[in-house]
Amino acid sequence: MANPLYDGLFGIHAGKTTPFLRLLDGQVITHQDFLVTSAQIANVMAQIGLKPGDRVAVQVEKSPQALALYAACAQAGLVFLPLNTAYTVDELSYFIENSGAALIVCDGRNEDQLGVVAERLSAQIETLNADGGGTLMAQAQVMPISFAPVERTGDDLAAFLYTSGTTGRSKGAMLTQDNLLSNARTLVSEWRFTSDDVLLHALPIFHTHGLFVATNVTLAAGSSMVFMPKFDLDQIITSMPEATTMMGVPTFYTRLLDDERFTKDLAAHMRLFVSGSAPLLAETHSQFEERTGHRILERYGMTETNMNTSNPYEGERRAGTVGFPLPGVELKITNPDTGASLATGEVGQIEVRGPNIFKGYWQMPEKTAAELRQDGFFLTGDLGKIDDDGYVHIVGRNKDLIISGGYNIYPKEIELVLDDQPGVLESAVVGVPHPDFGETVLGVIVPEKGATPDTDAMMEAVHHSLARFKHPRKLVVLAELPRNTMGKVQKNILREQFQDMFA
Ligand code: ATP
Ligand code: MG
Repeated sequence: MANPLYDGLFGIHAGKTTPFLRLLDGQVITHQDFLVTSAQIANVMAQIGLKPGDRVAVQVEKSPQALALYAACAQAGLVFLPLNTAYTVDELSYFIENSGAALIVCDGRNEDQLGVVAERLSAQIETLNADGGGTLMAQAQVMPISFAPVERTGDDLAAFLYTSGTTGRSKGAMLTQDNLLSNARTLVSEWRFTSDDVLLHALPIFHTHGLFVATNVTLAAGSSMVFMPKFDLDQIITSMPEATTMMGVPTFYTRLLDDERFTKDLAAHMRLFVSGSAPLLAETHSQFEERTGHRILERYGMTETNMNTSNPYEGERRAGTVGFPLPGVELKITNPDTGASLATGEVGQIEVRGPNIFKGYWQMPEKTAAELRQDGFFLTGDLGKIDDDGYVHIVGRNKDLIISGGYNIYPKEIELVLDDQPGVLESAVVGVPHPDFGETVLGVIVPEKGATPDTDAMMEAVHHSLARFKHPRKLVVLAELPRNTMGKVQKNILREQFQDMFA
């Protein structure tokens, strides 16, 4: 019987005593150990009556058992639905109810509150604590150590992943077995992963980056990972000598660069650093190269699509770009009004098509129809362009586009100028309501440690480099930008905060 995702990522390691997870206490979990845990959990879920296609909503701390729960869902034909650990019980209720989960797996400390939700929805509830304790593993431990994978096709749903909620309420993206498997295999080959690789894994496993990009690639290649509960600078620095590769969000890299212990020597044996989930500043890219000699490989993806583009492993990794469409992925830049393809260098909406693209948003048929075209192209909501050499540049999100006095203004263009000014750590440009122009440009500046940027001089610089209609009406200085748990800048919060500034 076939179950492509289970067979392709997990089943291939049956009986292997090779290392899969290297824990910080020195313990090593082999592929075989991991598969035993997965099979035991699958047995628990079958025994409590879950049927293939049921959703399993999971909000637990990162642990080897939590990862085995993902494997067990694949094995038992269940839809894995991981949820951000930062969500409060109230927020969770929405996701659990929205997804129609048949089983909730939560940390023991939330059991009482979520028990009420479970009862209301006639869902079952099990607990899994950060240390692997709880009702799920208590039952799993006495279960048989094998479980026949439930028959699935590549088109069956494997996971529901909620988007990060950077631009509004999170949406449940329905991902199939093939979506995940095809992308994992492509990335293994594009990034040259082999069984010799050891990945530093400090990302959360409720998000596409840590769960599918990092974990699935590791599994598909038969590599292992240093599995860290969270990003901890000291631990990263201590563990780097054990590793060959690392995947991170841009803040991982800026935090490493802020630490003197992160030296060329420490990174010398590393093979690859990958960045994604949010834009990596060209400045970070070049500082990283100066410090370590490594050029960070930036790629672009999203919950709904897995990974779409990547800078090349061999060949120029171009700072400020997300590289080329991955093999099998088509990417085009279109006019938002007409849908027609635009010429090289022109900015428009990014559309993608390929085996990586999701099935649609759960219970949002209208949104799905609006964003997933009949011909298979998905409107990403990102704006970008393709340069003469074919590199894709992301200019920002459609929702962050500023329309002032009838002109389209791309915040990124202004942010690049502001970021270049002395004493500026980073910036964010947003549109806020204005009585004459509809919207006007507001620049938010975050100073470097100890610096007091001269906003008049900055305005002057902007006036030199950009057309008048793009000039910020005002620059405000903030200690930091609002970010969600994935480290993404939440421009909607800035827009709200400053909505009355010119109104
Ligand atoms: P929501 O859709 O709920 O508003 P979100 O889009 O942030 O949240 P994700 O699916 O986690 O949720 O993130 C995908 C988005 O992240 C992309 O659409 C893009 O805007 C951004 N992104 C990912 N990688 C990069 C990158 N390398 N450079 C710039 N932006 C990136
Ligand atoms: Mg999104």
